[in-house]
This record gives sequence, C-alpha cells and structure tokens, in this order.
Amino acid sequence: MSSSTSRPVHYTGLIDRYRDRLPVSDTTPTVSLNEGDTPLIQLINLPQQMGIDVDIYVKYEGLNPTASFKDRGMTMAVSKAAEQGAKAIVCASTGNTSAAAAAYAARAGMTAFVLIPEGKIPMGKLAQAIAHGAVVLQIKGNFDDGMRLVKEVAGEAPVAIVNSINPYRLQGQKTAAFEIVEALGRAPDYHCIPVGNAGNISGYWIGFSEACGHNTASCTLCNGQCPYLDKPLTDKRPVMVGYQADGAAPFLRDCPVTAPETLATAIRIGNPQSWDLAHAAVNESGGWFDEVSDDELLATQALLARGEGVFCEPASAVSLCGALRDVKSGKIPAGSLITCTLTGHGLKDPDIAVRGQEAVQTVNAELSAVKAAILAHI
Ligand SMILES: *Cc1c(COP(=O)(O)O)cnc(C)c1O
Repeated sequence: MSSSTSRPVHYTGLIDRYRDRLPVSDTTPTVSLNEGDTPLIQLINLPQQMGIDVDIYVKYEGLNPTASFKDRGMTMAVSKAAEQGAKAIVCASTGNTSAAAAAYAARAGMTAFVLIPEGKIPMGKLAQAIAHGAVVLQIKGNFDDGMRLVKEVAGEAPVAIVNSINPYRLQGQKTAAFEIVEALGRAPDYHCIPVGNAGNISGYWIGFSEACGHNTASCTLCNGQCPYLDKPLTDKRPVMVGYQADGAAPFLRDCPVTAPETLATAIRIGNPQSWDLAHAAVNESGGWFDEVSDDELLATQALLARGEGVFCEPASAVSLCGALRDVKSGKIPAGSLITCTLTGHGLKDPDIAVRGQEAVQTVNAELSAVKAAILAHI
C-alpha cells in the first residue's frame, strides 16, 4: 500500500476495467459478475515433450464466472439491454451462451429465454441454465434452426437478442485481446481460436486492431475513433488462425453446412452469423482457417489436461490442436509467439472427459491393496 488512506479496490469486471474503450456511459447500468481478467498460461511441458521451439500461451477463458468466454459478451449485452429497459432476453445456444444469459439475467432481475438443440447440449451447461432460472426451450432442430427462430421471435415479442449478432457482445469479447496484449507487453505473432458462430474471432480482431490504434472495417462501433489511437499498446496485430471441427466447417467448405456434426457441441454450427467479419479478420491479418477431426481435438484436450494441468472443453481444444499441427508442419514458424483461446472449462462436459477412460480402479479397503496399486504405477 502506498499510503494508509488508500484501500485495495477489488477487480469488478471488464466494463469497469475498460470503460473508456466500450460503448457505455455513466448512466449505463453495469450488470457484471466480475468476468474477464482470466489467466494467460504459458505451456511449459508440451513444447518440451514435442520438441518444438515456440512460445505458446493459452488464454484460459474457462475461468470466467460461468466458465466460458461468453460472459465477456454477456455483461455488455445485458447491461445495454437493461439500459434500454428490456425485461427479458432471448438467445439460441449450443450451451454456453444459455448459461451466461441465464446468469446475467438473474443478476439483472430479467427473464432469460434460451433455445437449445434437443439432446445436444452437455449436462454442465444445461444445469447452469436451469440453476439460474432460465426458461429453457429445447427445440427439435439444431443451433442454426434456433438462431433463425430467435431472429423471428424478437420481432414478435418484447425480448432482446443476446446472441453475438448483438454488436455489444463483440465489444465485450474484444477485451480478451486487450488482456493478452497487456499480459505479453506486445501482440502475439499468431492468435489461434476455435470458430463456431464466428463472433469470438471477430471480437478478438476488433480488440487486437484497437490495441494498436488501427481503424478497420471490423471496428463496428467506434466510428473511426479507436480509443487506443492516441496511446497504442502495441504496433502490430497477430495473424489470426480460425480452427473448426471437420464435421462443422463451413469456412473450409466456403458455404453453410446443412447438417453439422461434431462431439465438440459448442461449435456444432453450420451457418455462422459473423461470416463476413470472420473472413475480414483472417484476410486482413494474413491468416487462415483450418479444420481438425473429433479424434484429434479429443487427443489434444487430454494432452493439455494431463500434460499441463489445464482442463478445457472439447471445442476449446480445437485452437491448440490446430496450432500444434501448424507448428509441426512449419506453417507457423519456429520462434513464434503464439496465443490460443481456450473458450470454456472442461467441467462443462464431463461425459466427454471420462468417455473411454479406464482411469478408475476399485480396490479393497486394505493397506496391501492400496500399496500394491500405487507401486504398480511407479
Ligand atoms: C461459443 C463457443 C465457441 C465458438 O465461439 P463463436 O464465437 O461462436 O465462434 C467455442 N467454444 C466454446 C466453448 C464456446 O462456448
């Protein structure tokens, strides 16, 4: 403490932290659960084991209040909805948006209506939506059907859409890029990220662009007045690399996919809403899209959990999975500084994590049995 009169002020979320860089005013009510400020963790074991010469960090967004990056966008979307007098919000969701919408609606005293694809959202996420009191509508269709219905119903009922077509979502999500640049003292050379509905890659590109004072077409709300123009944090932007699951990879097919399928349910999306913004991010940065298989992404999820102690959900592992493959092939050169977004926590989808694992042994409650079991592994 510098003086006896100062008192510590605890972190109160990304709207307070980045108020001057977000479209909020003094009269905007702040609906926050202290989201953001997530750890950027350097991988130390995996690069060594794999013999690759890169600095690779993961942005662990699973440590947000509802355990995914969706909280960053939701604090903005719900705060702005409250400012505009909304009493109810609605979203289509593969799970995490519904969890975040439910929690922030509870915080704001609003009702959340969430449309989820029947049978396709993991238990952790469904539990959150129910626990926070959302009205859960399971539809006989996929995410893309839900998205279409949300857009239609918002014209017929007094509900504010909080999917990432709401531009305030991307404004909140851009703050993850600010945090990365601040933590590293520079922009990474490459930023690798899972792509589903494509809002997050678009939000990061806004954030990285604003951090170096660039005005870009992706900068939707700042009207050529990027707040960092006068005091850029860095002078360059990363190459943006977006990875998809191969059964739900419209950016690789260059057209919507009608029946997307992947175990990574968070990115089981065939008709991404931020199509143009995501293309702009990749094209302006000199990046690319690529795809990984379900087997590959699950292997990476396990590698990260066992090798580094970081547990992310299947969709999140797509970023690291693709990054490691592109490092090994030389597409991402040796010596690069790479950041990967881990979008959600592994506990969201426990069924996938224990699937096919024979990790639990049953032993007698006797010293000899426990000792023998331990020694068998040493
Ligand atoms: C929402 C989500 C994604 C996809 O993000 P988009 O902005 O839709 O591209 C990826 N991973 C997880 C865990 C998510 O919840």
